[in-house]
Amino acid sequence: MAETVLKIDDLRFAYEGKEALYTDFSLEVKRGECVAIVGPSGSGKSTLFELIAGNLPLRRGTIRHGRLGWVFQDPYSSFHPSYRIVDQIADVAPTQKMQEYLPDLGLERSLLQKLPHELSGGQLQRCSILRALLMEPELLLCDEPTSALDNLTQLETMKLLIRFLDRLGILLITHDLDLARWAADRIVDLAKEEYDDAGKNHSGRVA
Ligand code: ADP
Ligand code: MG
Repeated sequence: MAETVLKIDDLRFAYEGKEALYTDFSLEVKRGECVAIVGPSGSGKSTLFELIAGNLPLRRGTIRHGRLGWVFQDPYSSFHPSYRIVDQIADVAPTQKMQEYLPDLGLERSLLQKLPHELSGGQLQRCSILRALLMEPELLLCDEPTSALDNLTQLETMKLLIRFLDRLGILLITHDLDLARWAADRIVDLAKEEYDDAGKNHSGRVA
């Protein structure tokens, strides 16, 4: 049986003085699974990631997870503009290991010698995926990883992420339902949580 890489139980969270974003929220992700988190702006998608990453205090519920990796929306803000890509990845893993991943990511070695702005958005996003993968995450948190890219590149990038599911689980935040339906094994809609009675468990919801 595939191992569990994320287990959230009975999570409740509210920002100070605000309504709860989730009540009794539970979710499990196993290695080999891609689970999409959807919901309109403000429904608490990014907050969920911050809670998983331990950047916000957890007051009710439990969150357990394996080693984390991150892919953010805008690859240009994930890299310092004045240093070569290779130097910004080298702190994560030795160059040799980096090169093992290049073919799978469709990246030429020479690209790594360049500065971020010399690459297209899609190329640079693949570099940030490379950096995330080199940390050998068990759970990859992807916050709108393709929404800064054009349509064709979006799909290519998503296909490429899916290819690594043999070794990790993916939690994918997206506002794009079509993308979620295409990529995810399960879709969890955070907005629904607000409309349903408190106490509903949304894990396993299939759109
Ligand atoms: P999403 O990523 O789905 O757009 P967020 O998790 O960013 O939603 O935000 C959820 C809600 O919490 C929003 O109403 C937002 O204004 C509010 N919020 C986000 N961060 C903070 C914060 N640091 N303090 C107070 N409220 C916040
Ligand atoms: Mg957000």
